[in-house]
Amino acid sequence: MQVLVLSDIHSNLVALQAVLADAGTFDTIWSLGDVVGYGPQPNECIELLLSYSHLAVAGNHDWGSLGKLDLRDFNVDARQANLWTREQLSARSWGYIEALPETLDEGDYTLVHGSPRYPLIEYLVYPSLVRQSLPFFSTSICFVGHSHIPSIFACTDSEVRVLTPEIGVPIKLGNERYIINPGGVGQPRDGDARASYLLLDTAERTITFRRVPYDILITQTLMQEAGLPPRSIARLEFGW
Ligand code: ZN
Repeated sequence: MQVLVLSDIHSNLVALQAVLADAGTFDTIWSLGDVVGYGPQPNECIELLLSYSHLAVAGNHDWGSLGKLDLRDFNVDARQANLWTREQLSARSWGYIEALPETLDEGDYTLVHGSPRYPLIEYLVYPSLVRQSLPFFSTSICFVGHSHIPSIFACTDSEVRVLTPEIGVPIKLGNERYIINPGGVGQPRDGDARASYLLLDTAERTITFRRVPYDILITQTLMQEAGLPPRSIARLEFGW
């Protein structure tokens, strides 16, 4: 099975469309949370996801927009965008987000937004935190989002290795356990403004990281028209 693994769409429809067009043929989508927040087109992103076979888990911005997480835990720009998003959400979008689980196990894969220990809020960017997460999921491979930074952690009982997520090169997964982040679709934060995602081949046990440019100016213009925070608009072109 070919799986398009993506995270942190953040209401950026143009970026999501670019990813879907670039991904080619796939069987299903696994979405790791934060479909909304920051960006200008929350309902359109949810509707587009709904037109595909997909699994999805909740992100902190998803629940923040519904008021299921305390907005005081968000920075000022994120909070403003969440309040704006709450006003925009259709009944169908609201129901979709409300029903998202915190974690999902699918075969030998676990899907979660932040970390298996704290599904909505923990950032897995350091090997020490990755190590602490291992007892909190039982499958071999855990896909996470939240940091918006493409990453691979290969874990044995004795060590956590940080592998380089080279773009376009299939990486064969071994017998270790893994925590893998596909990077962010709608607001990359690794200094590369292109939308980030990965393709998983479950039969071959390979992952391939991909980047695709999108028309950032369209998203920025829509954000301006919506009155969303200037810093959130500017950061898109810097990939931060
Ligand atoms: Zn996010």
